[in-house]
Amino acid sequence: MSNNKIACTRYLTPEGQLNTSLPAWADDFNLLTRLYRQMVLTRLFDQKAVALQRTGRIGTYAPTLGQEAIGVAIGSLMRSEDVLIPYYRDTAVQLMRGVRMEEILLYWGGDERGSDYAEPAVAQDFPLCVPIATQALHACGVASAFKIRGEHRVAVTTCGDGATSKGDFLEALNVAGAWQLPIVFVINNNQWAISVPRRIQCGAPTLAQKAVGAGFHGEQIDGNDIIAVYDRMQVALERTRQGKGPVLLECLSYRLGDHTTADDATRYRPADEVKQAWQEEPIKRLQAFLASQGVWDEGREQALISECQGLVQQAVSAFDNAGSQSPESVMDHVYAQWPAALAEQREWFLERAQRRAGGEDHDQ
Ligand SMILES: [Mg+2]
Repeated sequence: MSNNKIACTRYLTPEGQLNTSLPAWADDFNLLTRLYRQMVLTRLFDQKAVALQRTGRIGTYAPTLGQEAIGVAIGSLMRSEDVLIPYYRDTAVQLMRGVRMEEILLYWGGDERGSDYAEPAVAQDFPLCVPIATQALHACGVASAFKIRGEHRVAVTTCGDGATSKGDFLEALNVAGAWQLPIVFVINNNQWAISVPRRIQCGAPTLAQKAVGAGFHGEQIDGNDIIAVYDRMQVALERTRQGKGPVLLECLSYRLGDHTTADDATRYRPADEVKQAWQEEPIKRLQAFLASQGVWDEGREQALISECQGLVQQAVSAFDNAGSQSPESVMDHVYAQWPAALAEQREWFLERAQRRAGGEDHDQ
């Protein structure tokens, strides 16, 4: 089989050199350095989150290491009135949208307040979705509402390569195509679905071509080249916003970290493959390009790292000082109206939690 009908966009080589002439917007070095800054901030935050899990201060965490370009590009282009329906490896896009670092730590610490975003521009974004691919259908619901109301807003939903094998994903593509919904699907094809490699995950040469079967446009992008992701995402959002139907972007990247902190990828992944992937990662690539253009150097790099580390540390302090949530908050957002049978259990739980808080309940 051939994939020659599916385009794949790349502007920067892994060495940060031009693969082809840049789009006009990329002459704006202020924009490129802002994107670079955000990728570095995301990576430093990600490292801290893993360290906090290792020391028992948050629960399981899904690292975004190596995939910063995809999220930063998406988040920088979405408008505040658009809605993000993310999956669990979306730290980069959440930060770019305006979700606070301490909120992300609260979320992974099992605290419901982490999904109650303070920034008004992201208040309508969905919480991270941990079940695989179900968010794609939620996004179709959001996009349907936009279409019915005649609003020029876009639903953007993300998923990993593994999710594209799920029925939920394929059903979402189908309904998006049938109803011509204003939705952009972004696949973060990081080559691994936990321990299952892409090559045995799906028989099709590309994941982007799944859009063709649903009757709309799909394409591949070098997901380690932020100029390429930004450029194609910009086109996709514009096209979708104009009512020209959905778009599927398959961003090719590599999961440099473990699947989550509950995983050990060294047990199933060849070291030489990971070593090669480090040669293609997104931050070094843009850094090399900016340096070659005379707008980045070691002094700027060190100042940026220092600034970002300060921001991360501030967020950790805010997380530490957030205090505990009430025990019953674990149930707060499950139902708008509780079914009778569960309402009874909830009452029992609330009463017990209050007795425990008062030191009156010592039974098992
Ligand atoms: Mg994956």
